Amino acid sequence: VQGKLDLLQENTHNTVNSLLIETALGLAAKVDIKIENGEDIGLLEGIPFGIKDVFMLQGTLATASSDLLKSYKSSYTATAIQKLLDAGAIPLVKENCDSFGHGSSSENTIFGAVKNAINTELVSGGSSGGSAVNVAKEFTIFSIGGDTGGSIRQPAGFNEVFGFKPTYGKISRYGLMAYASSTDCVGPIANSIEDLRIVLNIMSGKDVRDQTTYGSEEISEEAIDYKTSSVKTVGYFKNFIEADAITDEIKEAFLATLEKIKASGIAIKALDFFDADILVSTYYTLAMAETASNLSRLDGTNYGARIEGENLKDTYSITRSEKFSEETKRRIVGGNQVLSQGFSDAIYLKAQHIRGQISAQFSKDFTEVDLILSPVTPGAPPKIGESLKNPLAMYLSDAYTVGFSLGGLPTLTIPKGTATGLQITADKKKDAAVLQFANFLN
Ligand code: GLN
Repeated sequence: VQGKLDLLQENTHNTVNSLLIETALGLAAKVDIKIENGEDIGLLEGIPFGIKDVFMLQGTLATASSDLLKSYKSSYTATAIQKLLDAGAIPLVKENCDSFGHGSSSENTIFGAVKNAINTELVSGGSSGGSAVNVAKEFTIFSIGGDTGGSIRQPAGFNEVFGFKPTYGKISRYGLMAYASSTDCVGPIANSIEDLRIVLNIMSGKDVRDQTTYGSEEISEEAIDYKTSSVKTVGYFKNFIEADAITDEIKEAFLATLEKIKASGIAIKALDFFDADILVSTYYTLAMAETASNLSRLDGTNYGARIEGENLKDTYSITRSEKFSEETKRRIVGGNQVLSQGFSDAIYLKAQHIRGQISAQFSKDFTEVDLILSPVTPGAPPKIGESLKNPLAMYLSDAYTVGFSLGGLPTLTIPKGTATGLQITADKKKDAAVLQFANFLN
């Protein structure tokens, strides 16, 4: 624990928002005593981990990498984090990310852009960029991220680690700052599939504080052994591969991966799917609408910064105008626009309708294929500074991750298959099948 804290303290990748030195050392000392007394310790006891700075951990800063919550301390602990603490894991660090999860590059933060673990001139991806980099640099053994539209999977791909977005509802969102509640998921980033499995098992399960959760059985080691795999057919989206936006490098690597899978006796099926512009506009319409609603609570009265105005209305408006980032404000304004009278039918309800069609398409696809494979992104990680200049290009770069979020499906990025990784997706609640196929490809 001390060694990892030292590494994090010296970190040159801008991954650290706050270090939990006292908490971590205190917990580590307790594990030491247990070991000295010859007591048995659990699988996760003493294992250091990182937490994206959008989770509550009682008594520690929870900033969401935002100016508004820069000094805000959590008054309670998120369910998923509490379960890890109960299992003896040791939290080391609150990790840098895009403010409130808004972004794909971890540049929308007051703590400085997170630098890619492999090439420091490039972005880390986002929004869980700090978490992916800490795992890639082995500053943490695993990190807990949040994934609303790709925020675990895309930075995992950009930093060559594993990142899993489980089925929506498998892990409680209680104590995760809400971005878009209908797609927000909690998930682990780690250096191995086995580590993902262990952490996933601990965090999963029904929680009375999040009514969208369901009880799920533990995923055993045997259940994800690839030798027992019954995968017969794997699908992929033709239009993802034929899109203008995809680079030759990613396309060729992806097609070569499909060929290898085919050579092992598994059938490959090309599927029709929605085009990138439909997926991205549907996702961003809903995500912006939900974030406008969720962030309305941050008005200078209850949480975080408050800039006093002449009256209450001014206080709200000055606090929000000065303390939210440009990107967050863009989303709040966009979200309120699509929800307002005269626009909601044409935009918000239409997006809901298309989301229904996307889900129906997935249900149909999974009668024909066992899994769907996809590149994580159409292109390589941009240089630091580029995404900020062109938000629309950044939104479009999420084209391959957001559809699976709208479907609530379990999706895993493995650091193989293409330069920015490969996504393996299964039908709802088939999280084990995803991990099993990852073992097969690994
Ligand atoms: N890049 C996407 C967005 O900005 C996804 C972010 C996320 O999953 N938190 O909305």
